Amino acid sequence: MSTERLRALALEAQERYADAGTDEVLAWAAQQFGRRMAVACSMADAVLPHVVAEHVPGVDVLFLDTGYHFPETLQTRDRVADLLDVTIVDVRPRLSVAEQDAVHGKDLFARDPGACCRMRKVEPLREALAGYDAWVTGVRREEGPTRADTPLVTWDESFGLVKINPLAAWTFEELLAYSERELLPANPLLAQGYPSIGCLPCTRPVAPGEDPRAGRWAGFAKTECGLHPATATPATATAAATATIPTTPTPQTTEEAR
Ligand code: SF4
Repeated sequence: MSTERLRALALEAQERYADAGTDEVLAWAAQQFGRRMAVACSMADAVLPHVVAEHVPGVDVLFLDTGYHFPETLQTRDRVADLLDVTIVDVRPRLSVAEQDAVHGKDLFARDPGACCRMRKVEPLREALAGYDAWVTGVRREEGPTRADTPLVTWDESFGLVKINPLAAWTFEELLAYSERELLPANPLLAQGYPSIGCLPCTRPVAPGEDPRAGRWAGFAKTECGLHPATATPATATAAATATIPTTPTPQTTEEAR
């Protein structure tokens, strides 16, 4: 499908499905794109692959295999591959960790996490998505102020694709309930104080009541890996942050291609 056609589809659907349910928007996406749609999954949980596979059996699930993941995350990836009707696609950077160390110096993540994320996440995903018309993410509005205005469907100018966020309106409690009801695999780190799970060197556990993403790139101003541009203006984000900071120590997960 041409870029212009995809852009027009995205903008029309953004308005039409602004308040739609997850199944409604996924039914539209399945009909429009079928297997030309890929799911991005960080393997914190398996809710997103499961809801999409209900509409597109065997759907491609892209996992950004950065070389820096927790063993628990890789085990979750394997369990998702075994248990769900999906096709796991490991998306790897051009350079191995050893090669990156040799070219850019050891532990680039500790000096320039933006460059590290760009080489190990953003650029590999951009190349992987080149063969698709649409991608599906697990971004949820309550995850943080920069995600507060996430639409269910939008045009992703950066990747030149339709972007579908079918879980945008879900709360953590809804996500957890769905995962438990469907007996889905989940990353054991979620229960160990890691509400948002990224690469091992850039993720620490958070204290009860702390911002769920406070454990990501701690010590840096960075809060996103570059895959999901902010959807809220600074003013909106500030208001949303005030409204969404939990008053009880409720952990939250993050689906990012995360
Ligand atoms: S999260 Fe950290 S280790 Fe992973 S790609 Fe980004 S900077 Fe590198």
